[in-house]
Amino acid sequence: MPQNKLTDRFGRTVNYVRLSVTDRCDFRCVYCMAEDMTFLPRQQVLTLEEIARVARNFVDLGTEKIRLTGGEPLVRKDILELVKEIGTYGLRDFAMTTNGSQLTTMAEPLRKAGMHRLNISLDSLDAEKFRNITRTGKLSQVLDGIDAAREAGFRGIKINTVVMKGRNDEEIPELIEFARKKKVDISFIEEMPLGEISEHDRGLALCTSEEVRDIIRKHHELVPATEDSGGPARYYRMEDSETRVGFISPHSHNFCSTCNRVRVTVEGRLLLCLGNEHSVDLRRVLRGNPVTDDKLRETIINAMDLKPERHHFSSNGDVQILRFMNMTGG
Ligand code: SAM
Ligand code: SF4
Repeated sequence: MPQNKLTDRFGRTVNYVRLSVTDRCDFRCVYCMAEDMTFLPRQQVLTLEEIARVARNFVDLGTEKIRLTGGEPLVRKDILELVKEIGTYGLRDFAMTTNGSQLTTMAEPLRKAGMHRLNISLDSLDAEKFRNITRTGKLSQVLDGIDAAREAGFRGIKINTVVMKGRNDEEIPELIEFARKKKVDISFIEEMPLGEISEHDRGLALCTSEEVRDIIRKHHELVPATEDSGGPARYYRMEDSETRVGFISPHSHNFCSTCNRVRVTVEGRLLLCLGNEHSVDLRRVLRGNPVTDDKLRETIINAMDLKPERHHFSSNGDVQILRFMNMTGG
């Protein structure tokens, strides 16, 4: 593994990159997208070769962990080719976040192509509520996908649940039992103010990690786990289960001082912070003349100086960042 060359002004080392591979999706989750979305014209989207080139150069600069996300990564044509390519880079951790709709056919090929871990989004175990939250999703398809992923033998599978008061907060105990039964981890996420939505008032719907923990503690004792992801997640264990329970709390927990990650949008914008607009255009470098890996690496190294000290999300429900999560890569 090459020595890490990505350190920012605050002494934080960046060794984790999230790459968005598409802004498109077969779902329209209420917290993530508007019902009627306009997607990017093809020429604005990085090609799979360009994405692989970005990934390879990040690895050359010391990146140990890559997550592919979107949009829905599994709706991108030929995504397996990219997974196979990145699978050869010797990463310590190679993961994908997916809505699970394609996993019945894609889980095994993904595992064989070198993917280590999957995060699968699941906000409800009730078919109607699931449909209401995702607008187009079919619960049974995702549940089958989760089973297919379990059979494929990933190193780890984690369920991601965005908790919203009045929509799915009463399902927290059931979701915990589901994760225990399926022997997978589960993280509860506070909704973030990314993109303008009309379906609910984010300020009112916010269910803090503290509140979620209190609900779970009525059923299970939670013991803090020692792992630290360097991100907004805090993990707990239950005495009688392998399942870990994570809480992703951008509002109530300030994780910025240990932040180790950056994101690259599907347009090739290197985002230094989820909660700020600071970014650098890598696509311009990738499509420059001549394109050199040296220039790309120099641009990435210099971009570290732009990484802000912290995010400024507040919990009043106001939109603070106009881009939607599908653009950012969650
Ligand atoms: N389509 C894939 C999926 O749903 O897992 C990957 C992309 S999605 C943008 C990544 C994660 O971001 C999902 O777990 C989703 O629930 C979460 N997400 C989307 N919008 C969010 C928001 N406004 N606040 C918090 N989490 C959000
Ligand atoms: Fe699609 Fe994932 Fe956004 Fe839902 S959260 S609309 S599945 S990108």
